[in-house]
Amino acid sequence: MKKDKYCSFCWRNKEEVYLLIEGKEGFICDRCVAEAEKIIEAEQASRTQKASLIRLMKPTEIKEHLDEYVIGQDQAKKVISVAVYNHYKRLSRIMKGQANEIEIDKSNILMLGETGTGKTLLARTIARILEVPFCIADATVITEAGYVGEDVETILTRLLQAANYDVQSAERGIVYIDEIDKIARKSDNPSITRDVSGEGVQQAMLKLLEGSIVYVPPQGGRKHPEQNLVAINTNNILFVCGGAFDGLERSIMKRMQSQAIGFKTLFEKENVLDKDNIFRYANAHDLKKYGLIPELIGRLPVITYLDPLDKATLKSILLEPKNALIKQYEELFRLEGVKFEVDENVIDYLAEQAMDLKLGARGLRSLLESILLDHMYEIPSKDDIQDFRLTIDNVKTKLSESNLALLKVA
Ligand code: ADP
Repeated sequence: MKKDKYCSFCWRNKEEVYLLIEGKEGFICDRCVAEAEKIIEAEQASRTQKASLIRLMKPTEIKEHLDEYVIGQDQAKKVISVAVYNHYKRLSRIMKGQANEIEIDKSNILMLGETGTGKTLLARTIARILEVPFCIADATVITEAGYVGEDVETILTRLLQAANYDVQSAERGIVYIDEIDKIARKSDNPSITRDVSGEGVQQAMLKLLEGSIVYVPPQGGRKHPEQNLVAINTNNILFVCGGAFDGLERSIMKRMQSQAIGFKTLFEKENVLDKDNIFRYANAHDLKKYGLIPELIGRLPVITYLDPLDKATLKSILLEPKNALIKQYEELFRLEGVKFEVDENVIDYLAEQAMDLKLGARGLRSLLESILLDHMYEIPSKDDIQDFRLTIDNVKTKLSESNLALLKVA
């Protein structure tokens, strides 16, 4: 056997291939290496798929994992942990062929909460824990067919892409639809004129949420006749919707003030002193009044709320999560060979400033970016710096030079 000239796997000779790699007993060509890589990838994907189906985490375990990344928001975490657990229990029952006449409904989730309080982070973290494909879609870019914008199916294009075009895997994924409040009908009265941004989109979204076969353009964009469409069954895709629902508090309070129980109104009875947290009392009626159509509300059976972030929570967010902002900057500086330190009063000050910005935890990042920009610009060119300490004076100077003050909400 002329072992020096042939690939031991496909028997192609040296001339027929780009590269022959020599091993102890033979050769392998570049084509077989690529083929083997594909086989390994497929095996890895199938093992992950099986593992994530078998590893049905208990709600308490899911919450513990969430705690590593998301600060506070205990109620939302609890609700989501149970919803996700039930969702995957339902899914594993179907996969194991144990489904019977009792049909378990999907537990799609609706999260109400101000911007930057961790809605997306929660959904993303859940997907990470469960090792399922995840994508974020923005409800505001979706329009009814026939209008400029994206078809509702493109939401699933992103999921398909996140699943590396593995349809089976995408069919068990999680989709986060942001700004669902922005597609609310403008008034509670169904209008006879067409409402491009609102009701039509909600109607279009129903077919995704309820569990049906949806034909998805694999490359996104508008559907057109020549395109090959991929059929995706949304029955086991978990949809998590989130929105800030500005103004919803008012209608919740109004309802509670008018709802009498005995001699006291519901408002007095529940002792609603903490006006920051009115979302916790939201019900389907309030959402309908806000402009979500009843069919959509019906397909989002799990409603939960996020708390606005107070100063103590913002401080914890800076320091405690696994990938806390300060830890991220420490790492960035460490890669530069520089030890990054922050004075304690800086943490305090940043939390206060972020409260003023009213961007939730997102404000912390904007603050740190503008404070550290010059330093991150200059330090890589300086060889003699081993330590960098962020002091309150430094922070105040940088902030006064920046235009962040303009972002402040009066
Ligand atoms: P939302 O979707 O509610 O507008 P995000 O989840 O996108 O907000 O949050 C923006 C950023 O703020 C996240 O990337 C995260 O780093 C941080 N963040 C927000 N809320 C929390 C929280 N409760 N715990 C930890 N980090 C948070």
